[in-house]
Amino acid sequence: MATLHSFTSFHYQYKNFDGFLHFRSKKSLTRRYAVRSEGSHHDQDSCKEGDEKKRLRILIAGGGIGGLVLALAAKNRGFDVCVFEKDLSAVRGEGRHRGPIQLLSSALAVLQAIDENAARQIMEAGCVTGDRINGLADGLSGDWFTKFDLSTPALKKGLPVTRVICRMALQDILLEAVGLDIVINKSKVVDFMEESTKVTVFLEDGRQYDGDVLVGADGIWSKVRSKLFGKEDAKYSDYTCYSGLTSFVPPYIDSVGYRVFLGLNQYFVASDVGHGRMQWYAFYKQPLSSPDPPAGKKKRLQELFHDWCGEVTELISETPEDVILRRDIFDRDMIHTWGIGRVTLLGDAAHPMQPNLGQGGCMAIEDCYQLALELEKFVNSRLDFQRSGGISSALRRYEKKRMFRVSTVHAASRMASKVLTAYQPYIEFGFGSSPLSSISTIRITKPSVHVVRMFLQIFLPQFMTWMIAGNGEDGSCI
Ligand SMILES: Cc1cc2nc3c(=O)[nH]c(=O)nc-3n(C[C@H](O)[C@H](O)[C@H](O)COP(=O)(O)OP(=O)(O)OC[C@H]3O[C@@H](n4cnc5c(N)ncnc54)[C@H](O)[C@@H]3O)c2cc1C
Repeated sequence: MATLHSFTSFHYQYKNFDGFLHFRSKKSLTRRYAVRSEGSHHDQDSCKEGDEKKRLRILIAGGGIGGLVLALAAKNRGFDVCVFEKDLSAVRGEGRHRGPIQLLSSALAVLQAIDENAARQIMEAGCVTGDRINGLADGLSGDWFTKFDLSTPALKKGLPVTRVICRMALQDILLEAVGLDIVINKSKVVDFMEESTKVTVFLEDGRQYDGDVLVGADGIWSKVRSKLFGKEDAKYSDYTCYSGLTSFVPPYIDSVGYRVFLGLNQYFVASDVGHGRMQWYAFYKQPLSSPDPPAGKKKRLQELFHDWCGEVTELISETPEDVILRRDIFDRDMIHTWGIGRVTLLGDAAHPMQPNLGQGGCMAIEDCYQLALELEKFVNSRLDFQRSGGISSALRRYEKKRMFRVSTVHAASRMASKVLTAYQPYIEFGFGSSPLSSISTIRITKPSVHVVRMFLQIFLPQFMTWMIAGNGEDGSCI
């Protein structure tokens, strides 16, 4: 059975509950650090509890999924935390623009380890998809091509089963758990300065804050990242993504969680998101910023997918024009250093990836767990906060420990973008008695048929198992 690293103030153990194996947190003692009050300047003050200890002060740029989960993990450890979010209404509105989010078992387990109560609310608000059939299908016929087993690896390791949750619900639960006293709204980070004893964040309106650590959780267009490593353009993936949410409930809802329908240079993802609604994403290859025709997005999609199977065309036709959104998809090349000195990055600020495997948010959540753990170890070592060496080593350890898993997911997401769309209907595939033989009308162009077949039918199912179960040291879930 897997075990999680335990944080200093909590111990975790598995407990069977409602059909899932959960972690149970038991408050044990103890570790508390002095409270430091919020203000435009924060001095390295301290208060007493038993022996005199200073609180580690963590400044977080960005209150998206990553920023809020880290704030929660840090707050629960007794650290002093401050989140700067340029626009909280955008955090909440994010859901409208990017739709519900899938949280894999490993990310859910991490949330449980960070805050059992918030995790329970997230799980209750989510829709379990991992216990049904999920996988890839042919876009024209709708026939299954590869199925992923999302539940066996989770149950084997005692992890909660994969769910989909509305982003707004997720962020509201996280915000409520973190507290509005910790998240400072309308605070756009424009700069920072690191000195040997502290790091100072500068906001657009002139306010500035001092802390021991700065974490850039400010997304793909991260200011903290560009200050650390210089400005660099994000990479357009060659794909635009239309998304829609519809109240149409298809007849297969009880047996299918999500299905990715494949075609040449386009693919379509349909997922149950609970409450009688379906979320879909339509990815289509086209030049950056191509305009939509005046007739509208829905009309365009109906043309692009006109000969696809009924499962796809029905979802498009059941979705009103005004809830169809579109965004061009970007990522960045992987960098193998995420920080310098007292500053580090997490989530999309560190490793923005394409959304086709639905892993960016999960990786951000896992980052938070590892980062909080390394900072906890640093605090336990009783090294001086004012000396940057110990903090810097803790941050570099976090980066190193996350690098392999995140790089693998980043590479797999890029590869998936090529392979999922290198799929062309109507021409002989020729795989004899393989599951593909039933779809006699499929051809793969570049990359080669064999690469595509291996990736979709062998690598991806294995990869999903690895993602779910995690690969952490000591059998931990990350
Ligand atoms: C179509 C689509 C579908 C996806 N589906 C999934 C999925 O199913 N599962 C999954 O795990 N991932 C998914 N992702 C990826 C996921 O959305 C991201 O990886 C995740 O949101 C990253 O979280 P983050 O906190 O690092 O960054 P963000 O969510 O981008 O949050 C950054 C925050 O920082 C704030 N900010 C930015 N600049 C500043 C500044 N200068 N000062 C202060 N605040 C600032 C922003 O307002 C924002 O609130 C999907 C992505 C897309 C595009």
